[in-house]
Amino acid sequence: MKKDKLIFKLLDEEQQRQEEGLELIASENFASKQVMEAAGSVATNKYAEGLPGKRYYGGCQIVDEIETIAIERAKQLFNAQWANVQPHSGAQANAAVMLACLQPGDKILGFDLSHGGHLTHGSPVNFSGKLYQPFFYGVRQDTGLINYEQLKEVALRERPKMIICGASAYSRDWDYAFIRQVADEAGALVLADISHPSGLIARGLLTDPLPHCHIVTTTTHKTLRGPRGGLILLGKDFENPWGLKTPKGEVKMMSALLDAAVFPGTQGGPLEHIIAAKAVAFGEALSDSYMKYALQVKLNAQAMANAFIEKGYNIISGGTDNHLMLIDLRNKNISGKAAENALVNADITVNKNMVPYDDKSPFVTSGIRIGTAAVTTRGMKEKHMEQIVALIDDVLANPEDEHSVKKVRKHVHSLTEKFPLYK
Ligand code: PLP
Repeated sequence: MKKDKLIFKLLDEEQQRQEEGLELIASENFASKQVMEAAGSVATNKYAEGLPGKRYYGGCQIVDEIETIAIERAKQLFNAQWANVQPHSGAQANAAVMLACLQPGDKILGFDLSHGGHLTHGSPVNFSGKLYQPFFYGVRQDTGLINYEQLKEVALRERPKMIICGASAYSRDWDYAFIRQVADEAGALVLADISHPSGLIARGLLTDPLPHCHIVTTTTHKTLRGPRGGLILLGKDFENPWGLKTPKGEVKMMSALLDAAVFPGTQGGPLEHIIAAKAVAFGEALSDSYMKYALQVKLNAQAMANAFIEKGYNIISGGTDNHLMLIDLRNKNISGKAAENALVNADITVNKNMVPYDDKSPFVTSGIRIGTAAVTTRGMKEKHMEQIVALIDDVLANPEDEHSVKKVRKHVHSLTEKFPLYK
């Protein structure tokens, strides 16, 4: 095989960056070698529009088996009645759900992006905010916790067709039962986007949304530790609330509407290599060793949050129930942007993030978001979280002092050396 020297040199450099650095971006993780092998497999060559057993192309008998296994494992992992494993990403999964459930101009109610929500939950720069009419709920300024009274008040006033819960930067569990109650009163469907904590939810470490929410979406590459991709789940299939029927007069179930919204609604051919990798990742997530991993992710996040609090950092909501935390740096006199840049110089990767009621722009921000999913995959434990917090604190105390940043970088490399990634 002739290697593309330029690209493979860059990929080697990227591998080295990942090996040497401390990866604290809450949405990232390190997929296993077998997940990456499946993602880089011959299944990339296969066109398979449609679903297993109902394809628009020949030669699909083997990818049919692969996709069926992926679906069955996803159902087992999340205790779901139905799954579609084809969405190319989390955004695609949400787009398909909205296409299936909404008409352009319909009202939707989502968690405010500037409080920790996601672009696809109604942001004006995203399809969800352009095609539909978005309303938002946020967190309370005094507690940093979801303002459920506000959610209820807006839902009953605006009567949206869909209420979306789930977040990109919220460190606490959700009251899905309450949201469902409100939705029933308002006549809305509930979509739970569990992209971030889905691995922890799958293993029973956070409240399960499937018994409460009509539809659940997730990415497969965050805490779930699979390939980049999306997934749609139904705890229980149900008759569509709009009375849609097939030409034969059969009532369409939600699962049929969602399948059609993925393909041909929003996507062409499924990525069967990624579906193979999802199947492998779901298999891993069902294992005892993943259970231990998920528990450790939470313990590490709690240890890290406590260590930050001890050093005088302001964690939004005062702690974490999941794998991440959002830190308001305003009392430390450094912006999120400056903190991100200084930490990157020390080979510590985090992302700047708006904090609720932020007075800075999304390009500057007052906060950083930190997650423990990736460092836990390396095998790090609570005491290493304390070391990491000490290193971060050193950088943020003197972000412009090159000597001190260099010293931290050396410590980072000696720590990561002890936890090799892809041997
Ligand atoms: N939903 C949530 C809550 C997310 O945090 C993300 C990604 O960060 C997405 C959806 C989008 O996922 P993707 O980047 O795979 O499109």
